[in-house]
Amino acid sequence: MTNKEFTPDPVFHSDIDNKFVADEYKPLGKEVYIKAGEDMSDKGYQEGTLAGAIRMRMRRDNKRFWAGDNISDYVTDTHKARLIDEATLAFETVLDSLLIDRETDPNSRGTAKRLAKMYFNEVMAGRYEPAPDATAFPNDSADRYEGMLVVRSELRSMCSHHHQPVAGVAYIGIIAAQKLIGLSKYTRIAQWCARRGTLQEELCNDIAREIEKATDSENIAVYIQATHGCCENRGIMAHSSLTQTTVLKGFFKNDPGAKKEFFDNIKMQQEFAPR
Ligand SMILES: [Zn+2]
Repeated sequence: MTNKEFTPDPVFHSDIDNKFVADEYKPLGKEVYIKAGEDMSDKGYQEGTLAGAIRMRMRRDNKRFWAGDNISDYVTDTHKARLIDEATLAFETVLDSLLIDRETDPNSRGTAKRLAKMYFNEVMAGRYEPAPDATAFPNDSADRYEGMLVVRSELRSMCSHHHQPVAGVAYIGIIAAQKLIGLSKYTRIAQWCARRGTLQEELCNDIAREIEKATDSENIAVYIQATHGCCENRGIMAHSSLTQTTVLKGFFKNDPGAKKEFFDNIKMQQEFAPR
């Protein structure tokens, strides 16, 4: 047995407080290494994958990249095109492992590419796109709106455990503070949060937090009801199961009247458009 010397990777073994780790470092044997340039374009890395380089960069910055996290600060449009190519190769490997003939089966030809594009541009788009721009309008005049606003938003998401579809509706309640955002923005924000790998409980929290950020209001409620492909198409095969989650903040939490008005509004919305 030869004595193997351990060479610490400067990214993973740097002092966490010291963000200025060396931008250039040596390869570790045949390990993948990167030379992180400004934009990690062609000259920015020599071996390995772009995904590997970006993951390394996020670890270096202590940036969490769970399925439900937005990582748009780390992924440019140029990266995305390249990541789709990398994911296509990876999905080809998965199809091969599943013993699906992607050469002669006309329906499986191109499936790897379709899957890769679908993940980046559709079902997980909310991970890679920056927050929707929600221009705020002042709500501070003498006749400012002081009532409750309840917006119903259709949601499509995906569970991070099984990558099965989650389909449902979010009801977003708010008592406006000093500013208002356009009505469609509530739904855009909710959909941006949903188009990731999610847990419904987390999604409910995420939507409440992002609406709070966009509106500066502390009085927010989010109620989601959704069906889960992972319970319908597999496992317990529960076809009529519905999962409900609620997050209440501020008045909605502390004032029983506000809470009741929110749920009464939901009932009226459901009479108007049953699902
Ligand atoms: Zn699941």
